[in-house]
Amino acid sequence: MNNDCRICQEQANKIFTGNLLNIPVDYFECLDCGYVQTESPHWLELAYTETINDSDTGIMSRNQVNARIVLVTMLMLGKVGGTLVDYAGGYGILVRLLRDYGINALWSDRYCQNLVARGFERTNETADLVTAFEAFEHFVNPVEELEKMLDIAPNVLFSTIIVADPAPKQEDWWYYGKEHGQHIGFFRIRTLEKLAQERGKFLVSNGVSYHLFTDQPINQTLWKIMFRANRLIPQLLRRRLASKTWSDHLQMAALRK
Ligand SMILES: [Zn+2]
Repeated sequence: MNNDCRICQEQANKIFTGNLLNIPVDYFECLDCGYVQTESPHWLELAYTETINDSDTGIMSRNQVNARIVLVTMLMLGKVGGTLVDYAGGYGILVRLLRDYGINALWSDRYCQNLVARGFERTNETADLVTAFEAFEHFVNPVEELEKMLDIAPNVLFSTIIVADPAPKQEDWWYYGKEHGQHIGFFRIRTLEKLAQERGKFLVSNGVSYHLFTDQPINQTLWKIMFRANRLIPQLLRRRLASKTWSDHLQMAALRK
């Protein structure tokens, strides 16, 4: 079986055998870009019986933080009044939160049902920013997914936790997701730099979990500072944004008449 790097097609070497959902799984590391991946994932059907796994207790607080990180990023890009597509929108929590702040956010997700942002799905709109939180580590073909996102918008904000170097053993890192089997690829900063460079983009990253591919050379230090102060951002933007909570309600209510 071919276990070449799913990011750059270079040779990847086996680093250990772990197990996911009690299935033995080999892990490989790319000699070139440093991407760490499982063998070709044949267990995904089992892993996605529930798309959002039931051990995900952090879902609400994470979405609240993510919404503020989006505000920071849109502010830095000068696109507070712009459009956003949440590419891995899940139940629609982030889209709803962003619309409540006043961002024109649209939902998109091929694998999950929109529960709380119904009526605000993307049809074929382009946008200023695409978001994909906790999605890249799930992708079987991350490059193809990235291309699809860049067809929607020139800027992509995403989260995925950077894997340490050398790669930890399976029992030493929770993010391998032994119990749900959905995490199949792990990035290094140099993996992301390579992806950005090949597409003429800048990479901005907090070095740990949040990353941005962008056309604009935004100030990474300032982004990180605002990041840490993200709790203050909604207050800062209060005068520039008008919440869509009520206007969305009126729009949806009108559809029922
Ligand atoms: Zn590679």
